[in-house]
Amino acid sequence: PRRVLSGIQASGALHLGNYLGALKRFTQLQDQGAPCFLFVADLHAITVWQDPALLTAQTREIAAAYLASGLDPAKSVIFPQSAVRAHAELAWVFNCVARLGWLDRMTQFKEKSGKHKERSSVGLYTYPVLQAADILLYKATEVPTGEDQKQHLELTRDIAAKFNNDFGVPDFFPLPEPLTQGPAPRVMSLRDGSAKMSKSDPSDQSRINLTDDADAIAGKIRKSKTDMGVMPEVGEALDDRPEVRNLISIYAALSDQSKDAVTAEFAGQGFGAFKPRLADLAVSAMAPITAEMRRLMADTAEIDRVLKDGAERAAAIADPVVDEVKTIVGFWRA
Ligand code: ATP
Ligand code: MG
Repeated sequence: PRRVLSGIQASGALHLGNYLGALKRFTQLQDQGAPCFLFVADLHAITVWQDPALLTAQTREIAAAYLASGLDPAKSVIFPQSAVRAHAELAWVFNCVARLGWLDRMTQFKEKSGKHKERSSVGLYTYPVLQAADILLYKATEVPTGEDQKQHLELTRDIAAKFNNDFGVPDFFPLPEPLTQGPAPRVMSLRDGSAKMSKSDPSDQSRINLTDDADAIAGKIRKSKTDMGVMPEVGEALDDRPEVRNLISIYAALSDQSKDAVTAEFAGQGFGAFKPRLADLAVSAMAPITAEMRRLMADTAEIDRVLKDGAERAAAIADPVVDEVKTIVGFWRA
């Protein structure tokens, strides 16, 4: 049977990349009738410092974004990762299955740890192992994410295959399919066409937050980095114009058009004509979601109900799987 699983970290304000690369995809899959398990990744969030006073609010905010973007708790299971103990338990077993050499190749750790590898948390290093546990606990068949998670999803498949093989339980964990081909699988920073848009980017100008108002969005797009040229002609290679390519991709994803159609519409025009149109589009796509998030955050009772119910439904699937794993590994069982 089909089972979709994905998560978003409770590590700060959501942005346009999260919306186009993740949230918009989740609702599409739900609306196709696929059972979806969507969690708020608070265990992942603390791999970098999170103020405890803010973490709870950030967790509710991600839940609000799920609901506001069209996920229906009657159809989809929405829950906080830390509320289902099985995630941490399975992650430990997987820490003993995954090899150091596999983790040494992970580019996200290299990017996030930067020049200060020795000062990073151990959790940041083993993050992809926890991610494998998140996915395999539910025996997920499909995992929609942005393109940045592709390498971690391959690692998940390697961990599943090694567990199945080491313990002689072929097919115990099915190998999940990564779905990284969304409308905009890699939205780039507005300030740097070689870096992805991220919650953790210190520059707020680099991203459009779901909570930005129309003026802020218009300002960030107006000031976004471009180049001295004009909008490209149809068929023009954009390899050396990454910022321009990014803005076109965003426009295409927001308007459900192909990049070629967008290029044809604006070919040869100045950015002064294109940018306000892009800003209008971003505002009209995001404003209803933002408004609904604000409504949900005003009284958190509804969100808390959804998260509690989701945690129970998720644990009902995950707990028996981790119990089976304990038996397979040979842990003493009463
Ligand atoms: P952080 O900087 O804390 O890692 P993030 O912006 O990368 O935050 P995550 O919570 O790590 O957000 O990712 C949530 C989902 O959003 C994942 O599926 C991820 O692949 C997707 N995503 C994140 N950034 C982008 C982006 N720039 N373009 C498309 N998808 C993205
Ligand atoms: Mg990330």
